[in-house]
Amino acid sequence: MKNFVHDKRKVSTKVVLVHRPVFEALFLNNDERESRWSRTSPTIEDPTLIVCPRCTKKAKVIPISDHTYRAACAYCGFTEEHPENNHGFYWQDDNPTDGYFGYDLWLKTTCCGYSFWAFNVRHLDLLESYIGAKLRERTKDEKWGWQNSSLISRLPKWLKSTKNRDEILRSIKYLRKMV
Ligand SMILES: [Zn+2]
Repeated sequence: MKNFVHDKRKVSTKVVLVHRPVFEALFLNNDERESRWSRTSPTIEDPTLIVCPRCTKKAKVIPISDHTYRAACAYCGFTEEHPENNHGFYWQDDNPTDGYFGYDLWLKTTCCGYSFWAFNVRHLDLLESYIGAKLRERTKDEKWGWQNSSLISRLPKWLKSTKNRDEILRSIKYLRKMV
């Protein structure tokens, strides 16, 4: 487990995305986790989409109570429950997971030679807002307020590079069709 990171930094900003080319684990208290993930954490309406570990079709991670999440597949009937207070988030750039169960994300593609992925629709919205705002010459997006130094500092350089904008926006469109 080289490049293992124990991240205890305080996160006071509204939007934080992690796209790091290192293996990373985050162990956060409830307040930190809330501020970090409220924008992209799974909800009933906007679940984290995963690859079903049994049948490899599209499955969901949803909250079923304040402290429990469920992975469920409508195709094969697979279900699994996981208490939220018993997990860390793990990502690897090429193989990101849902953060609760460790299953592969469904919304994943290759963009500009890199792994490009999202947890759910809100995550795609955030990314599109950021990239789109850049196209509008860095006009701050009122809905998402992407002009957030923490968010920007955590996005990989290739995602912020102007020469990659068109391909990134095409990839976001592609991933939206997979939802
Ligand atoms: Zn399944």
